Amino acid sequence: MAAGVTTGYSIDLHTHSLRSDGALGEVELIRRAAARGVRIQALSDHDTLMGVAAAVAEGDRLGVRVIPATELNTESEWGDVHILSYFVDPHDDALEERLRWLRENRGRRIELMVEKLNALGYAVSLDRVREIAQGGSLGRPHLAQALFEAGHVPTYDSAFVTLISKDSPAYVSRVGLAPLEAVALVREHGGVPALAHPGTTVGLDRLLPTLVEAGLAGMECYYPSHSPSRTAYCLRLAAQWGLVPTGGSDFHGRGEHGADLGGVFVPPECIEALESRRGGVRSAYHSTRVEGEL
Ligand code: AMP
Ligand code: ZN
Ligand code: FE
Ligand code: FE
Repeated sequence: MAAGVTTGYSIDLHTHSLRSDGALGEVELIRRAAARGVRIQALSDHDTLMGVAAAVAEGDRLGVRVIPATELNTESEWGDVHILSYFVDPHDDALEERLRWLRENRGRRIELMVEKLNALGYAVSLDRVREIAQGGSLGRPHLAQALFEAGHVPTYDSAFVTLISKDSPAYVSRVGLAPLEAVALVREHGGVPALAHPGTTVGLDRLLPTLVEAGLAGMECYYPSHSPSRTAYCLRLAAQWGLVPTGGSDFHGRGEHGADLGGVFVPPECIEALESRRGGVRSAYHSTRVEGEL
C-alpha cells in the first residue's frame, strides 16, 4: 500500500465484499481497511454471511475486530428501507435458510431483468452477470457492470440512471421482506437491527415508531452522502426514539457512495451501545410472510 493510505476513521459499520456486490474479496477488504486505520469493521454483505469467517480470521491477524452483519433490502411503499443486522451468528442454520431464500429471489429478479434488457435490445447474458458476481449474492451492480462492459452504457453509474433504477424500463421489483419483517427476522436470530442510510426511506418519521416497536435498535446517522443537516436531523430522530446512532461508508469498491473504508466518522461509544441491545428487546412482531414464488 502506498504511504498516506492510513487516512480513515477507526470504525466502519457498513461494508460490502465480493460475497455480495462489492468489488473486493473479504480478505482483501479487511486488509484495505486495516491499512486505512480501521480497527472495528462490520462486514455487511447483502443477504449472506459467507465472508464472515475469513474476514474474522484476517481481522484477527491484522488487529481489526470484524463484526458479523448482513444488510437486508426490503420491498414496500416506504422507499429503500435497508436493515443492517449486527452480531448475527454465521453458524445459525435457520437464519442461513432465510438468507438463502432471499438470495434465490435476488437471482430470479436479475434473471428477469436480463430478459427485459434483451427484449429491449440490450444484449447481455446471465452467465456473464454470474461470472462478474463470482458466486456472490447477485445484485443490480453486477448487471450494471455487464451493461457497461458490453458498451450499452457510457459509465457504470449511467446503467442505473437509464436502465435499471426504479421507474427505468428494465427494472423488476424484488420479492422479499417488508421492513417490519426484516427487523423481526434479525431479532428472532439474536441480532441487533439498525436502519441503513435513512435518507432513502420515504416517510422516515412515520415509519420509525413501528420499526422501533418491532425491535429496531440503531440508525445510520453518519453516512457519506449525508449533509450536516441530514445527520443532525437523524441524530434528533435517533434521540427521540432511543436508537443508537451508527455509521459506515457503505464501501463497495467502485467509488460509489463516495467514501473509502473508514471514510465517515462513527462515534466509538456506539459499539458498546449496540452490544447492550443484543437480545434485549423481544419483537412483538413475527416474520410470518408466506414465501411465495416470484
Ligand atoms: P439491488 O440490491 O440488486 O437492488 O442493488 C442495490 C445496490 O445497487 C445498492 O446497494 C447500490 O450499491 C447499487 N445502486 C443502487 N442505485 C445506484 C445508483 N443510482 N448508482 C450506483 N449504484 C447504485
Ligand atoms: Zn450493495
Ligand atoms: Fe443499502
Ligand atoms: Fe450497503
